[in-house]
Amino acid sequence: MHTLDHRLARRVFDECLRQLSLDEVPLKTGGDRERLVEKLAGLIKPGGNDPEAVLSVFLRDIAPAIIACDTPRFMAFVSCVPSKTSILIDVLVSCFALHGISWLEAAGPVAAENQALRVLADAAGLPASAGGCFVSGGSSGNLSALLVARDTGLSRRGGHGTRPKVAVTADTHSSVGKALHLLGMEPLLVPTPDHRMTAQALRQTLARERHSNDVVAVVATAGTTNAGLLDDLAGIAGVARQEGLWMHVDAAYGGAGIFAPSVRELFNGVEQADSLVIDPHKWLFSPFDCAALLYRDPPTAQAVHTQRASYLDAIHDDDGDVWNPSDYAYHLTRRSRGLPLWFGLAVHGTDGYRDGIENTLTMARYAADRINATEGLTLVCEPELSVVLFRRDQWGCDDYDSWSDRLLAEQIAFVLPTTWQGEPVARLCFVHPDTTKQLVDEVIATIDPAQDADHVRRHEHAH
Ligand SMILES: *Cc1c(COP(=O)(O)O)cnc(C)c1O
Repeated sequence: MHTLDHRLARRVFDECLRQLSLDEVPLKTGGDRERLVEKLAGLIKPGGNDPEAVLSVFLRDIAPAIIACDTPRFMAFVSCVPSKTSILIDVLVSCFALHGISWLEAAGPVAAENQALRVLADAAGLPASAGGCFVSGGSSGNLSALLVARDTGLSRRGGHGTRPKVAVTADTHSSVGKALHLLGMEPLLVPTPDHRMTAQALRQTLARERHSNDVVAVVATAGTTNAGLLDDLAGIAGVARQEGLWMHVDAAYGGAGIFAPSVRELFNGVEQADSLVIDPHKWLFSPFDCAALLYRDPPTAQAVHTQRASYLDAIHDDDGDVWNPSDYAYHLTRRSRGLPLWFGLAVHGTDGYRDGIENTLTMARYAADRINATEGLTLVCEPELSVVLFRRDQWGCDDYDSWSDRLLAEQIAFVLPTTWQGEPVARLCFVHPDTTKQLVDEVIATIDPAQDADHVRRHEHAH
């Protein structure tokens, strides 16, 4: 098991090269349950199999049974578009079995990860003392940060409640609601007429709250997942400072925007965050699964998260020189998942990231312009980041669903409708830096009423 099979290695590396050399990754359509059950049946058995046979199950039946995220045609959810460089270093992270639990065991990888975190912290404008670790995703980042907010919050605020509260909006990501549930906290909903939390709305909500000392934190979103909108970070930071609230900024999707001059202003105030989450696996061209979790004052987080046990004494030598990523989130064992981002930043420079992000923003604005110029299509709101929401006159849920199905079936794009103020709307999310105007045109043409009419006319003519 631990002896290298050179033939298998060659085969696997050839496949890696073949995949990485594709000009465009095919989108594909997902998997068929029965087929997968049949292909997998009995595969794992006491005597094992010829590796070639298992590899071909992987290549023929498993890997293709997906909708590929690393293509510009994937415009649903928030895709993951790892750069070639970041994928290559990820291979090395696996080959070297690089972990990143503690300084003792992984000083090199931790130092490199911290350099990447430093770049993010600097771009956000956080103080030089800021630091943290990479976790598996925005969800675990939010959970870890809110635990620190909870454990330090009641004492800071002089609250007595057994169920501390956290100010959120209806557009706060679902993972925050789940984190609050796990942590025994409750959401305090701040109303947002235009889907953005403002200082005034936060202040009024706090004023109405009877046990306002039980409110320990506010979660500000920098780039809502549904629409890519930003809360008023600077205003919220002002209230948070005044009231002694922990300010957590969930920038899992939108955080990459701190590198883009055209939208950087929207992030003003992020530098005042007590904790900040940015997912490099979303819009910073890193492979799964990678989220950066930063704290303004890492010792506060360390005091909450450090695990103490006899078998861990060795990693906490407490001379102040060590940095253990395991001390800054609820995790212990972890791979050094921040290295692909570190490598990419070092190779392409922050300018490379800036250009990639700016291109997706340009494509979002281009799509918005095209929608504005198309009769029968209406933009729901001007895009702030790289999400575009729009509706087509007279369309209901079923129309959007069949549009989505058709585009996937024809391999034009993977798009999914969402809802906006209770109504179904079309949603395009751009995170692939190679998205072109031509592709945007191609997708808009599929929902342009005039082109429908042409389509019908051509169709009738043909008959
Ligand atoms: C995607 C997202 C999350 C969750 O991140 P995962 O990496 O999927 O766990 C949290 N918050 C926001 C705003 C997001 O867009």
